[in-house]
Amino acid sequence: MADVVIVGAGAAGLATAIFCKRHAPGLHVICLDGARRVGAKILVSGGSRCNVTNAVVTERDFWGGPARFVRSVLRAFPSSRAVAFFAEIGVPLHEEEDGKLFPDTCRARTVLEALLRELERLGVELGTGERAIDVRREAGGFVVATASGGEYHARVVVLATGGRSLPKTGSDGAGYDLASRLGHGCVETTPALVPLVLAGNTHAALSGVSHPARLTIRAEGRRDLRLDGALLWTHTGVSGPVALNASRHWHRARLEGRDVDVRLSVCPGETFESLEAWLEDQARARPRTLVTTALATRLPAAVAEAWARAAGVEAVTLAHLPRDARRRLVRALLDVPLAVRDSRGYAVAEVTAGGIPLDEIDPARMASRRCEGLYLVGEMLDVDGRLGGFNFQWAWSSAWVAGRAIARALR
Ligand SMILES: Cc1cc2nc3c(=O)[nH]c(=O)nc-3n(C[C@H](O)[C@H](O)[C@H](O)COP(=O)(O)OP(=O)(O)OC[C@H]3O[C@@H](n4cnc5c(N)ncnc54)[C@H](O)[C@@H]3O)c2cc1C
Repeated sequence: MADVVIVGAGAAGLATAIFCKRHAPGLHVICLDGARRVGAKILVSGGSRCNVTNAVVTERDFWGGPARFVRSVLRAFPSSRAVAFFAEIGVPLHEEEDGKLFPDTCRARTVLEALLRELERLGVELGTGERAIDVRREAGGFVVATASGGEYHARVVVLATGGRSLPKTGSDGAGYDLASRLGHGCVETTPALVPLVLAGNTHAALSGVSHPARLTIRAEGRRDLRLDGALLWTHTGVSGPVALNASRHWHRARLEGRDVDVRLSVCPGETFESLEAWLEDQARARPRTLVTTALATRLPAAVAEAWARAAGVEAVTLAHLPRDARRRLVRALLDVPLAVRDSRGYAVAEVTAGGIPLDEIDPARMASRRCEGLYLVGEMLDVDGRLGGFNFQWAWSSAWVAGRAIARALR
């Protein structure tokens, strides 16, 4: 019988194995994964550069279950400790915009290889191509049954099976069923950090164009939520950090049966007054300039043209822009509805919102309150972070808390 079997060798599973063995080197730890090659999600993360964490991570960067739970776990292993941990295993990180931390090599493979080297150094047994199909209790622990017919007996089991996003990497939600057999519930899941699909075809003409934007998510019965960041137009709708961050809110509102309206400002940080005053100044300074040309000094040309056309002023000079049209244009620059039809779904989502309810977990140990000897970590829990390295930090922090607790319990 092994001491610990960890189901899932993604970021959270690998880190749990490492932290567990670092705290108690004598334990026999096995890490199983359904995939033949582990770490697929680490390899594709951050555009294959792996945004390992962020310089500043707090509970306010996450959604899902209670913030105090997330705070407690993050405080036990903050991002500064993740930075130190990665330096120790030979992966120095550097900071880029918005506090995002990447490996100095700018290669996600460096992160995966370092984790696997550390796993090997500590003597963790890695079982690949071993998909768990059942976890059940037995005297003194658990049996994990795999699709290949294997049976692993362990005193303690850790579920680290991720969510449902990017299922081709092996994270297809099967872990929720395993958890449910052991008494756990599940907050209904939705894709998160996923591009939005729009109705109509305005977006297709702008495909590939990116610019700063503000999205306001107006869900019936909820306070408006404003998100700023870069927006990228695509053939199917909108992507880029601001749209990805907005996606979970659109999905959650729909899931709760709320009417939801997503509004776009292509001039974030401006007010009606400031933008109108700018257009008036432009008209005084360069009256013969086309409205479209003036707008193109602050927006990508294609966006300037689309907005001027929609306001019916694309062929009008600033001197001939009537007050009504000017005001209509200003309103449209600050607030147009985005006809969100759907998102691109789990197939392309970076994370999953929803999952194992946090009130079923002890945040000091990441231990199940439903099943003694069971621990749960990473994305399978009802926690999802915004874009910027926060989801990996959740994996590292929850793994550290579980690893330490398991070592203490079994030592
Ligand atoms: C394209 C993309 C880019 C991303 N970029 C970033 C980024 O730069 N920064 C960031 O912070 N986050 C990023 N994320 C999110 C981040 O990758 C995840 O939040 C994180 O990997 C979750 O770790 P996890 O270990 O909990 O789950 P996963 O990484 O999903 O790992 C779960 C593992 O469990 C295995 N498994 C599942 N079911 C079973 C079973 N029944 N039996 C055995 N094994 C099983 C799977 O094969 C998988 O290996 C990105 C995600 C995607 C999809």
